[in-house]
Amino acid sequence: MKLNVDALRYLSKDDFRVLTAVEMGMRNHEIVPSELVDRIASLKHGGTYKVLKNLLKHKLLHHDSSKYDGFRLTYLGYDFLAIKTLVNRGVFMSVGRQIGVGKESDIFEVATEDGTVLAMKLHRLGRVSFRAVKSKRDYLRHRSSFNWLYLSRLAAVKEFAFMKALEEHGFPVPNAVDCNRHCVIMSLVQGYPLVQVKQLQNPEMVFERIIGLVIRLAEHGLIHCDFNEFNIMIDDDEKVTMIDFPQMVSVDHRNAQMYFDRDVECVFKFFLKRFNMSFQEIPDDIDDAEVDMDESGRPCFSSIAKGSGFLDKDLAASGFTRKDQEDIEKFIEGGVEKDADSGDEENEDGGLASELNESDISGVESLHLVEQPTLNCDVEGIEENEQKTEAGLTNGPETQDASDEEEDNETMISKDAELTKRLRNQKRRVIASVRGGRKNLASRNTYKDKGGRSSHNSKIQKQLSSW
Ligand code: ADP
Ligand code: MG
Repeated sequence: MKLNVDALRYLSKDDFRVLTAVEMGMRNHEIVPSELVDRIASLKHGGTYKVLKNLLKHKLLHHDSSKYDGFRLTYLGYDFLAIKTLVNRGVFMSVGRQIGVGKESDIFEVATEDGTVLAMKLHRLGRVSFRAVKSKRDYLRHRSSFNWLYLSRLAAVKEFAFMKALEEHGFPVPNAVDCNRHCVIMSLVQGYPLVQVKQLQNPEMVFERIIGLVIRLAEHGLIHCDFNEFNIMIDDDEKVTMIDFPQMVSVDHRNAQMYFDRDVECVFKFFLKRFNMSFQEIPDDIDDAEVDMDESGRPCFSSIAKGSGFLDKDLAASGFTRKDQEDIEKFIEGGVEKDADSGDEENEDGGLASELNESDISGVESLHLVEQPTLNCDVEGIEENEQKTEAGLTNGPETQDASDEEEDNETMISKDAELTKRLRNQKRRVIASVRGGRKNLASRNTYKDKGGRSSHNSKIQKQLSSW
């Protein structure tokens, strides 16, 4: 997916306030009614609908009037919110070229104020092959409180937590710098994915290191689950770095043995095919690990002395809970790197999300798209910044003081709660009528509230429906 950050520089404080209001509304609504956006944003001088139109023009929002009139964030809108928050935190100041397209992510270079280049991974769950989406869709049909933005955020939180914990335990992983929403910032690995490497000086040594990592992970109670030539980076000195952690599971997982064997098999197959390696000479004591090998030289999962407690203790420190792990495991069951076949825009932030049903409403409590502590940053204004860095990167927004927004955010949150309750009831009635084939109480484009703003709203709805 293209990420043009130019628009970021021209978005106003009000633009971000309305974008944030849509995000907040999405905690409880797949599609956020325009009226709710207006109420949450509470712009001092009004004009929410003009702002919505502008955000729509920049493809930061998607307008949907199929069930009732409303908006949802696009991945681009979600990208902007995350980038702005991280820029305001001083994590980086400019966004550069795209350096990777994963099966469910886009990776870009970003630069800090002192010119250090880091990697920014934007998770995009839902962008997988049709087959994979379909099977997940079938599953998720019964779990409608999930949506792609929520899952992408979960994937980012998990990736960040694992990267940090693995780094602390001495594993060769990128340095985990920061995380916001679906975005992870990490150090840039100087090297190439193994899949691009045609020749190695010392393939046996690299192979041993890699298999040694799979074993050492298991000793720490973990299985990568997508350990293959796409997720192993290698530099000019043939030093190995592993990446891509959203699908990792514990060795206690019911399919642990299968995942472990699959990771091992991927490495064996690749080295056999690419480097024509024979496995007869591989020593039993790979990377000093004490582990039994089967007759084909593959390490036996059952013989590994597996540690435990790694997940709970170290991951919780980064805010990744067991419930998060359970939620995400249901969606990402092991890796499917080779299923990746597209940058399928059709699935962008979820066809699934548009399937509205009763449990969308009842399951809303489990959605936490907004991280409250970062809200101050989210609604800050943005200033134009024309400066270019030496690296030729496009500049992101400048940081501004956020203190005067604190009170506004409080108000936004309480209004959100109050309105949510009321709108939930209205929404339920709308859905019931759509389902029952009756003429609905609040028909398409005439979403009304009891707060006396309906004439204003219906005028706006007309305007929106003509977009
Ligand atoms: P996905 O989960 O979508 O597979 P990955 O984390 O595997 O995403 O990243 C996709 C590609 O982006 C990798 O194969 C690699 O080429 C590149 N990449 C990812 N992280 C980094 C990094 N920290 N430094 C340099 N390149 C990276
Ligand atoms: Mg990958």
